[in-house]
Amino acid sequence: MTVRTRFAPSPTGHLHIGSVRTALYAWLLARHHGGEYILRIEDTDRERSTQEAIDAILDGLSWLGIDADEGPVYQSRRFDRHAEVLQRLLDQDLAYRCYCSREEIDAMRAEAQAKGLKPRYDGRCRDGSRARDDVAPVVRFKNPLEGQVVVDDLVKGRITFNNAELDDLILARSDGSPTYNFVVVVDDTDMRISHVVRGDDHLNNTPRQINLFRALRTEPPAFAHLPMIHGPDDTKLSKRHGAVDVLEYRKMGFLPEALLNYLLRLGWSRGDQEIFTLDEMIDLFGLEAVSRSAARFDPLKLLWVNHQHIQSVDAGRLAELLASQLRAQGLDPANGPPLPLTVKALSERSQTVLEMAERANCYYGEFEEFDAKSAKAHLRPVARNALAAVRETLEILETWTEESAQAAVETVADRLELKLGKVAQPLRVALTAKAASPGIGTTLMLVGRERALLRIDRALAYIDARAAGQ
Ligand code: GLU
Repeated sequence: MTVRTRFAPSPTGHLHIGSVRTALYAWLLARHHGGEYILRIEDTDRERSTQEAIDAILDGLSWLGIDADEGPVYQSRRFDRHAEVLQRLLDQDLAYRCYCSREEIDAMRAEAQAKGLKPRYDGRCRDGSRARDDVAPVVRFKNPLEGQVVVDDLVKGRITFNNAELDDLILARSDGSPTYNFVVVVDDTDMRISHVVRGDDHLNNTPRQINLFRALRTEPPAFAHLPMIHGPDDTKLSKRHGAVDVLEYRKMGFLPEALLNYLLRLGWSRGDQEIFTLDEMIDLFGLEAVSRSAARFDPLKLLWVNHQHIQSVDAGRLAELLASQLRAQGLDPANGPPLPLTVKALSERSQTVLEMAERANCYYGEFEEFDAKSAKAHLRPVARNALAAVRETLEILETWTEESAQAAVETVADRLELKLGKVAQPLRVALTAKAASPGIGTTLMLVGRERALLRIDRALAYIDARAAGQ
């Protein structure tokens, strides 16, 4: 049997990272078994589905490299097929038209509640005797009245449902439009899906769908229902907890493989291994190691995972990512040191590419003002002499390299009988606006001579103004 999985998002908003984890597991399952993975856009709700949301799904998945073997298949373009199957179910007496009004349904519900029972449609239109011309009917499925439905869920284990507790599902609304539970079964059948991987918020739909598969005379697929992802306060992960839109993570400078690595571990484990390459993910993934309980989203761990990946990623690729982050900040990556040098200097201390770009912006453009705290601590009148001396030495330095610049600063400190920090710290603030940067030689090399001299002048002027009490 070929493993065929699908990811079936409804395009009604952004692509939520919880949905991405679902897509990832479905995709990994297919890739692991050499099977196929299909993207199906469930855009049957014409009012809530938008092109913008479709674009966000396609964009997000393509950024992450979750590539589909088939699709995107748009569910809304399959309405003729859905109508055909609906008619077949009606013809075979496996479905019926229901003429109940909203008031009748409400009354039924109230009555059940009064008796302490689960509200449930009582099947009064089942025998076809209530047909009338003045009401547009819905179509309901004739759910078996007796027996049980056993779901052998690949994550949750065996769950048994009594048919007596299941409603006669609405397959089509009074305007003829088909419902989720119906089209999902038709489409999973037509697409020969072998494994349905989805969130456990759909678990209650599953026995109904299984009955429908059987009515259509197809063997239901295997099911794997994934536990929800919670925020730190143990409620379902939502915007309140921070960014949930996957494209935000791209903006924030996360690497796609790091986000996948993190999402993989959020609900799946293999010993205490934390960092996985994409190939390892595909090699090692299996549903048997998916956790049965809800996972907790931890932004700090995600940053840590990203940091690990940043340090092992190809430098050329990182340079390209840095370039686009700099451009996003309105800077020209050509107006500064070669990007691989910057990447080399900063990757160890940056958790995201955005953070790297923020550290790097002083090498590609001017800063507006010195960081107040750093300037207060280091751009003091006592530092003037050292800064002026280092400027003189740097101006006539023969070669401008990391080593020669470092040596020059050390020489000045020796000559003035100062500790290196007394020269390097003011210089660092002068060059980068802040008191933290890579080694002073590296910083000078990245800033470049021309900019370095101008910035030292600017710092000297700042000190003079400070001394004059301005
Ligand atoms: N469109 C459904 C959703 O986004 C898909 C559920 C399923 O995978 O069956 O929740």
